[in-house]
Amino acid sequence: MSFSQDVKKEIASAIPEARHCCTAFLSGITLLLSDISYSPSSGLRILYQSENVAVIRICFTLLRKTIRISADVQMRSGKTPVYRLMLKGKEAEETLTLLKMHPGDRQVNSLLYERSCCRRNLIRGAFLAGGSVSDPQGSYHMEIVCSSMECAENLKEIIGSFNVESRITGRKNSFIVYLKEGDDIVTMLNIMEAPGALMDMENARIYKDMRNTVNRRVNCETANIKKTVSAAVRQVNDIEYIKEKRGFGFLDDALREMAEVRLAHPEAALKELGNFLDPPVGKSGVNHRLRKLSSIADDLRRNQYDQENS
Ligand SMILES: [Zn+2]
Repeated sequence: MSFSQDVKKEIASAIPEARHCCTAFLSGITLLLSDISYSPSSGLRILYQSENVAVIRICFTLLRKTIRISADVQMRSGKTPVYRLMLKGKEAEETLTLLKMHPGDRQVNSLLYERSCCRRNLIRGAFLAGGSVSDPQGSYHMEIVCSSMECAENLKEIIGSFNVESRITGRKNSFIVYLKEGDDIVTMLNIMEAPGALMDMENARIYKDMRNTVNRRVNCETANIKKTVSAAVRQVNDIEYIKEKRGFGFLDDALREMAEVRLAHPEAALKELGNFLDPPVGKSGVNHRLRKLSSIADDLRRNQYDQENS
């Protein structure tokens, strides 16, 4: 089961007690999922339709708790079954009155979300009907897909009342209200009363932080090792170049010994190299001698170049 499904399952398992909250929950679903139509021949109709049976079942439960309806959930079978709940005539009118909506509306009446308990439930309904959230193991993304800009702005404002800053973007014929910050998504899970998902998200975040810290440390160490290795390779090349062109005879004792010790221990760190010298020399002394050897190699290369090009 995806993280999105976990969140929705958790939301769907808690139907609010108070009538005002049930109404707000239903208005969130209606805002995103319903198809409201009117024609003189068939009158007013509200159709709730989804592949997610839980959403339609909740519509049914919420309607039953707030007004009397006789309509029932139907399944239209096909490759993917679609579940639908159709309200007609008086039932549809009563529903719109309850939700304080007009047939052409794609906005929630502000009277429905004066209380914060109702705003929570409105967001829960909207997320259930059109929301999704990416698995917290990956990058953070939560979104709710709206069919109109006014609906998206309405939702953004309601989410904003909890100090969560969401953004809106267009995609095909939809308007998406989305969040990218892990902290905001955690707050949203709290608002939507999905404590199980919230814990999962927090655990994933802690694990990710730890892994990032470890990765950063490993990256630094790898970079350091690479630096040391490439310096050693350069030193060995320089010393071999000297050996090949002039031999070690012209070097003073200290440099000759250094050159021989480096060739004998091409992978040793500076401190170790110092201990191979007689008498032992500290890290900075070793560094100094190796630099000197490199500069001799450079001189030889330059001479070689001058001879070849004169
Ligand atoms: Zn309420």
